[in-house]
Amino acid sequence: MTFNDFNLKKEILRRLEEIGFEKPSPIQEKAIPVVLEGKDVVAQAQTGTGKTAAFGLPILSKMKKGEKALVITPTRELAIQVSEEIFRFGKYLGIHTATVYGGSSYSRQIKHIQNSEFIVATPGRLLDLLKSGKIDIAPSYVILDEADEMLDMGFLDDIKEIFKFVPSDRQTLLFSATMPEPIKNLARTILKEPEFITI
Ligand code: AMP
Repeated sequence: MTFNDFNLKKEILRRLEEIGFEKPSPIQEKAIPVVLEGKDVVAQAQTGTGKTAAFGLPILSKMKKGEKALVITPTRELAIQVSEEIFRFGKYLGIHTATVYGGSSYSRQIKHIQNSEFIVATPGRLLDLLKSGKIDIAPSYVILDEADEMLDMGFLDDIKEIFKFVPSDRQTLLFSATMPEPIKNLARTILKEPEFITI
C-alpha cells in the first residue's frame, strides 16, 4: 500500500514524495480512509507511530476554504511538534498553523489563531482565551492528541469545558496510548458513533 491509494489531495501526495514518506504506517493505513469518510475516530496509538500524519493528512486534504481544525495536546513541546509537522505537510496548500500555550504572549497568539487554519493548543491557555471572548473559533475538526496524558495531567475538566465552546456539528478524533475508563467516558460524550482503531 502507498499514499497514492488514498484519496488525498495532489498537493499532499506531492509533498509526501518530497519529504520521503513512502509507505503509510499501520495507524495511517487504518485511520486515513475513515477520517476521509468523515467519521469520528477513537484510536489507540503510542507516540512515534505516525499519528500526526494519521489525522493531519486526511484533514488537510478535506479542509474547505474557511474551515478550521483544532488540535489539543497535553504539552507545549507536543503542540510545537504537531504544529510543525502539519505545516510541513501543508506546504503546497498554503496552510497556516498557530501554536497556543501558556507563558507566551496573548496578543501574538490571538493574531495567529485568527489567521490560521490549524490551531494546536494546550488545554489551559486555550480555555483562558475562549473564556475571555478574545478568540472565536468554530472548528469543523477537533483532535485530542494523547488524551490519557491530558487526563494524567489533570486537564479533563478543562477539556470538557473547551467542548462547550465548540460547535456540535464537527468531526472529532481522539488519540490515546491507553484507554482508561475516564477517557472512554469522555469519548462517549464528545464523539458520535466513533470507529475504534487499534494498532
Ligand atoms: P508521530 O508519531 O506523528 O510523532 O511521528 C513520528 C515520526 O515518524 C515523525 O518524525 C514523522 O515525521 C515520521 N513519520 C510518520 N509517518 C511516516 C511515514 N509514513 N513514513 C516515514 N516517516 C513517517
